[in-house]
Order: sequence, then structure tokens, then C-alpha cells
Amino acid sequence: MPQILDGIRVRDAILSELKPRVDALAARGRGPGLAVVLAGNNPASEIYVRNKIKACQGLGIYSETLTPPDSVTTEEVLDSVARLNARADIDGILVQLPLPKQVDSKRVLMAIAPEKDADGIHPCNVGKLVAALPGPRACTPAGILELLKRYGIAIAGRRAVVVGRSDIVGKPMALLLLHEHATVTICHSKTPDLPAVCREADILVAAMGRAAMVTGDYIKPGATVIDVGMNRLDSRDEVVRIFRDSPEKLAAFDRKGSLLVGDVHPLDVAEKAGAYTPVPGGVGPLTIAMLMANTVALAERLAGIC
Ligand code: NDP
Repeated sequence: MPQILDGIRVRDAILSELKPRVDALAARGRGPGLAVVLAGNNPASEIYVRNKIKACQGLGIYSETLTPPDSVTTEEVLDSVARLNARADIDGILVQLPLPKQVDSKRVLMAIAPEKDADGIHPCNVGKLVAALPGPRACTPAGILELLKRYGIAIAGRRAVVVGRSDIVGKPMALLLLHEHATVTICHSKTPDLPAVCREADILVAAMGRAAMVTGDYIKPGATVIDVGMNRLDSRDEVVRIFRDSPEKLAAFDRKGSLLVGDVHPLDVAEKAGAYTPVPGGVGPLTIAMLMANTVALAERLAGIC
């Protein structure tokens, strides 16, 4: 039986370790503060932000959400970010992506003060990651590394394959694994014979946003498989195709009208992997935990504690 890497359990452990650090900051006069900019009305973003705010509340981190309308301009978002940069009670700033299409996301992300970059994606912090210097790391890959370490999965000397080369997942994931001395291959949509490359992986990270694309023929028997994907299935036929008539899954789909599936085939991975993250309950909870960890660390740095 493969080992299921439980992201909820690791998230809870991370959050309980953060709590005394939040309390220690509060005891010095001010707890950490996180500001989220949620522009427009993207239903998925609204759910993600709600969960992030809930995590802040659970830990005693001050949080506030700015909700400019869908018609917001780049200049207006830049103005909000500049105000947050200047505020002494805000330690971390998160701009939820995607921004409305008329907004220049790159300019906005560049405008966040690097010392308040809760998502770890400002070019200064990306540079620190490349150079293996301390700084906030992109939350999803940082959470995955934490999961691997806490489950005692060996990384040094092993072959890692990361499928996806986005700035927020694929590239930072590859660098974090490289710093842990894995031999890393990054794949993308132009990689020839992707299944063969993936079959070389002792650690396979799938982050493409393609529902259940990583089937059994991508997985080396016994590999550790990390599924970053979060894809919503809206068609019953798709559910039948992927879950092969599972009555439980079909009942869940009929109840909710949709079903969440990762980038890895949920049945194949259970047959071939040595260990894997489920969807839901794998990588998603870790992303939020690492956002909290980044916010606390930024607050400690701004308070001169470390
Ligand atoms: P992006 O769309 O930014 O990047 C996707 C990457 O996958 C690209 O590099 C793309 O290649 C590659 N890709 C797409 N199709 C294929 C293919 N058929 N074969 C090989 N590579 C392919 O996505 P993100 O990195 O933002 O997110 C990836 C997934 O992870 C999504 O499902 C997203 O919802 C999920 N996610 C989950 C999080 C969580 O907390 N669980 C957090 C963040 C994301 P190319 O560059 O060539 O186009």
C-alpha cells in the first residue's frame, strides 16, 4: 500500500508551531498583519482568499482584504500597494492572482516591497532563492518541501522531475529541490516524450493544470508523487472516464455539480506510487500554512527579532 502524504496533518503541525511565535510578537505590542488585494470577482480567488483569512483568524494574525472592482486600473492597484507598503501594521502583502485582464500584473507584483512579499514572488526574493539566501519562498513549493521533509522522504541524490515551469510553482519547486541536492529536470508543454522523462523520477511533481494527465505510464513504481493540480470537473462524462464509474465519486459529483481532481490520475497513482499527495487534502492546505509562515517570518524580521 502506498503512503498517503497528508497535507492537512502537516498544515496543522505547521500552524501549531507558528502560534507561539504569533503570541510572542503580540506580547511585544503588535501581532503580525497580512493584507490581501482581491481585485474583481473571480469565484475561485474568493474561495482561496476566504480560506487564507480564516487561517489568519485561527492564528491571531491581523488581516484585511482590499476588494477593488473588476474595472480597477493598474494605477489604482499600484496606489493600494504603495499605501500597504507604507503601513507599519502590515507585515505581509498578498496580491491574489489572476488580476483583471487590464491590470499589468508584473508591474503590480514588482511594486510590493520585497520585505513585505508574503508570496515570495518578488524578483528580489526570487534572486534570494536562486542564491540560496534566506527570504520568503513561494508558498506552494515551500509547503511541498516541508511535506517531503516531515515525512522523511529522501531528496539528496535522487532524481526529481517537475512538470510545469510557472513562476509560482514549477521554477521555485525545481530550485528548492536542487538546493536539497536532488538531480532536477523541469518539463513543460514542449517536452518530448513526457511519460518517459517522468518515469525517471524518484520524486515527481505535477503542476500543469491538466486534469488527471499523469497516468500510470508516467510513474516509476514506488516513486513519490506530488500533485499540485486543482482542476474542477464539470462534466459527468469526465468523472466517469477518470474515476471509472466509482459510485462514491459519481454520487459526490451529482450532489455538488462538480468534482475536484489533480493533475495526477487518482486511481493510477494509488496503484503505482510509493507515496503520494491526495487531491483534495494534499498540497492545497500546505500553501496556506506557508503563507502564514511567511507572514510570521516577515513580521519577526520587521520587528528585529531575526
Ligand atoms: P500555469 O498555467 O502558470 O503553468 C502551467 C505549466 O504547465 C506551464 O509551464 C505549462 O508549460 C505546463 N504544461 C501545461 N500543459 C502541459 C502539458 N500537456 N505537458 C507538459 N506541461 C504542460 O499553472 P500554475 O503553475 O499556476 O498551476 C499549475 C496547477 O497547480 C494548476 O492546476 C493550479 O490550479 C494548481 N495550483 C495549486 C495550488 C495549490 O495550492 N494546490 C497553488 C498554485 C497552483 P508551458 O510553460 O510550456 O506553457
